[in-house]
Amino acid sequence: MVKSREPLVDGHGREIGDLRVSVTDRCNFRCQYCMPADGLKWLEREEILTFEEIERIVALLVSMGVSDVRLTGGEPLVRRDFPKLVARLAAIPGLIDLSLTTNGYLLERDADALVEAGIGRVNVSIDSLQRDRFFQLTRRDSLDQVLRGLAAIGRHESIRPIKVNAVALRDFSEQEAVPFAEFARDTGYQVRFIEFMPLDGDHAWTPDDVLPGDALREIIHAVHPLEPLPREPSSTARVFRFADGQGEIGFINPVSEPFCDDCNRIRLTADGQLRTCLFSLGETDLRGALRSGIDDDGLESLVREAVWRKELKHRVGDPGFQQPARTMSAIGG
Ligand code: SF4
Repeated sequence: MVKSREPLVDGHGREIGDLRVSVTDRCNFRCQYCMPADGLKWLEREEILTFEEIERIVALLVSMGVSDVRLTGGEPLVRRDFPKLVARLAAIPGLIDLSLTTNGYLLERDADALVEAGIGRVNVSIDSLQRDRFFQLTRRDSLDQVLRGLAAIGRHESIRPIKVNAVALRDFSEQEAVPFAEFARDTGYQVRFIEFMPLDGDHAWTPDDVLPGDALREIIHAVHPLEPLPREPSSTARVFRFADGQGEIGFINPVSEPFCDDCNRIRLTADGQLRTCLFSLGETDLRGALRSGIDDDGLESLVREAVWRKELKHRVGDPGFQQPARTMSAIGG
């Protein structure tokens, strides 16, 4: 029987309810805004948390009030036996929403196994619906395979909503705005554009690279009028419905419209580090504590201390902003 614990609250009074778990730093894509062409130096096998260790940390956090767990990477589907991890986590009492973010390349292969294992929602990252432009950005000629993966998970009616995340890049995504809007209208998938954040492998990000969500919204609105929907508490996206009722589209604007005030998210990296913010400059080593035999009460104190110091907000755009050493591929969205 899992012991129920006090809710996890940060020093700003925000209750933590959402955990992002990176299950690997490895990825089968080489997206320009994330990773150098040759990839990055991967973590060694023994540095990566085992399924048992992930399950133990997740179960503890669920007993402290976390109800939403999102599995990310790198690319989570490249981790061997990943559906087995999903099944272990789906069995944790109190874990209400177990979801996945994937680049979709292996989704056609794994869709049925993931649903059977207990995954509840899926976000697929696609930055262009045009083959050559998809290749240009990901350095992989894989759009068709990804769309087959999306169709495979789409056949499972229980997996809703299905969201498609597109990173918004200046002088690239403007051309993708209307095609993605029509994709959302035709498929019923909720497309969301995500502003480019300073978490790239090359550390080359500049504010000029950011295409604000509002610019994309205007391009779409001019063709398919949009109406705003109320924002859900702690939500990252500003969601709009098409005025004629033909679906929804969203904008995640961490740079131009930060949503930190009611942030309820923390992250666990593949090598067992707790990050209290996407842009944290420091981390708390849970793997070391686990492997030196800490008990759950000790682990709880370690987590509470770290979360109490959770950052109020990110400082992107502030003078003196420092890009974290760890890249997005090693944090997981
Ligand atoms: S930047 Fe940090 S504080 Fe802001 S919403 Fe993201 S994780 Fe939360």
